[in-house]
Amino acid sequence: MARQPYDVLIVGSGHSGGMAANILTGKGISCLMLNAGPQTDMSRDRVAKPVYELPYRGFGEPGRHPHIYQADEFNANIWVDEREVPYTYDSDKPYNWVRVRLLGGRSLFWARESFRLSDFEFKAAEVDGTGDSWPISHADLDPYYSRVEGIFRVFGRKEGWPQFPDGNFIEIDYGPDSLSVKKFIELATARGIGCSKGRGAQGQNGLASSINLLLPDALATGKLEIVPNAIVRQITVDRNTGRANGAYFIDRHSRREMYVQARVVILAAGTLESTRLLLNSGIANSSGVMGHYLVDQIYGVNVVASVPEARDGKAPAGLMGGSVFMPRFRNLKKDEKRNFIKGYCMRIGSGVGASPEMFPLYGEELQKKLDSYAGSCVVGGIYGERVPRFENHVRINKDVKDTWGIPVLHIVAKDSDNERNMVKDAADTLEEIYRAAGWEIVSRTERYNPPGYSIHELGTCRMGDDPKTSVLNKYNQSHDIKNLFVVDGSAFVTCGWQNPTMTILALAMRASEYCAEQMRTGSL
Ligand SMILES: Cc1cc2nc3c(=O)[nH]c(=O)nc-3n(C[C@H](O)[C@H](O)[C@H](O)COP(=O)(O)OP(=O)(O)OC[C@H]3O[C@@H](n4cnc5c(N)ncnc54)[C@H](O)[C@@H]3O)c2cc1C
Repeated sequence: MARQPYDVLIVGSGHSGGMAANILTGKGISCLMLNAGPQTDMSRDRVAKPVYELPYRGFGEPGRHPHIYQADEFNANIWVDEREVPYTYDSDKPYNWVRVRLLGGRSLFWARESFRLSDFEFKAAEVDGTGDSWPISHADLDPYYSRVEGIFRVFGRKEGWPQFPDGNFIEIDYGPDSLSVKKFIELATARGIGCSKGRGAQGQNGLASSINLLLPDALATGKLEIVPNAIVRQITVDRNTGRANGAYFIDRHSRREMYVQARVVILAAGTLESTRLLLNSGIANSSGVMGHYLVDQIYGVNVVASVPEARDGKAPAGLMGGSVFMPRFRNLKKDEKRNFIKGYCMRIGSGVGASPEMFPLYGEELQKKLDSYAGSCVVGGIYGERVPRFENHVRINKDVKDTWGIPVLHIVAKDSDNERNMVKDAADTLEEIYRAAGWEIVSRTERYNPPGYSIHELGTCRMGDDPKTSVLNKYNQSHDIKNLFVVDGSAFVTCGWQNPTMTILALAMRASEYCAEQMRTGSL
């Protein structure tokens, strides 16, 4: 850390931190990036082992990752060990918090589904008749989305639908639809449901990460210094000026505490870690809404049907296979009266099998049934938008500390009838279409996963024009502390049904350019 004080301190190295570093260093601004975890080199650190050599035979050590359904013994070192950095919640309100502290954060492992928010989300209060809108519209973010889509090489089919904004897409050939998919599309379209295809980031060489798409350019400027294994525990504020002036951080291995000075502080530690850091620092919360309005998407609903002509291995060529993606289609019209606000997207996949729990059978009979239904099924599920509510919040739990002595978060997230009515509507809709197609309903569940499961935790430092009801302004800048920015998902006002990373990246790009301009003109 040779250049103290740095122009900008960036906390976190994922999509949001990587974007901040990329933009700021590109404008000649010197940045220090502190990241809680190590840098990894997959070719050096990855070892192939047979499952019988692993102490838990691949299933993973009990208690290490109880909330991470992706974790097993093979990939255990990727995820934050929940014994090292725990969090708490009320026993009747479980929350799944999935974190990665490696350099690059979750950008190393995300599934790359890439969607824009639309004005149905940005202007949510007008559409819903309740709640809050964002202080920006799609038009404000459009140029930034386009640049992000260019960097991440997003593919997609352009539709011209306002609820599913098109972008700077690589147009790919999705191939011809199978007959079962065509049938589904015909019946869904007749019900006013737009049928499209998935959109995603191609990235480069199989990776769409901060470490290959954002940080290399930043490092090449010679203006970026990265310190791994540096856990920031407090942002400090100059008492005379009221400005952020640096941070205390702890070396992950030696546990030695250090201090760094900076003229501007940018938090990009991932939604809840940025909020935890601010709450532990006791700053930037004159509104009292910091920690509140925690949201993420509902993942769940599972409705499975079997196409009779495809059973017993007799599916004619071209009947099964393929998928349909249906962006939000509910509550797009003002006069639409439903027992829920907001909406959900649906997706179906054709050509899959049934699972054992779908039949009240066992043994040979069950096996025969599974063999008969193999490849004959169509399966559908949703991503649904949760409503942001003040009572869903995070706060500091002073009684529990992590391995480095930093107080942890207590998370409170609970669903309401809005979420329950939404999933019922989705299951009914899928079932109705399957039945209209003449397919046999094999299984239907309205069950959905607990909050956090989507790995899209958002809100808790929301942006807004009014400093009394929001933590950040429309440039992700603290209302209270002008040289403090939070550029990850904590700035979100509503979560939408869409995966959030394109929006996080576009906002981080826009905020960083605004910050650079303010620094250039001497306002910061
Ligand atoms: C398996 C998986 C699939 C996903 N699929 C999709 C998808 O298809 N589409 C989509 O849009 N999104 C997806 N996501 C979510 C997406 O990965 C995140 O939205 C995005 O990566 C968040 O970026 P971020 O920079 O805000 O946070 P993170 O990637 O979490 O980065 C935060 C960084 O901050 C560091 N940090 C945390 N606390 C501290 C501290 N106190 N001091 C110093 N450093 C700290 C961490 O080390 C970490 O590197 C997925 C995520 C996962 C895990």
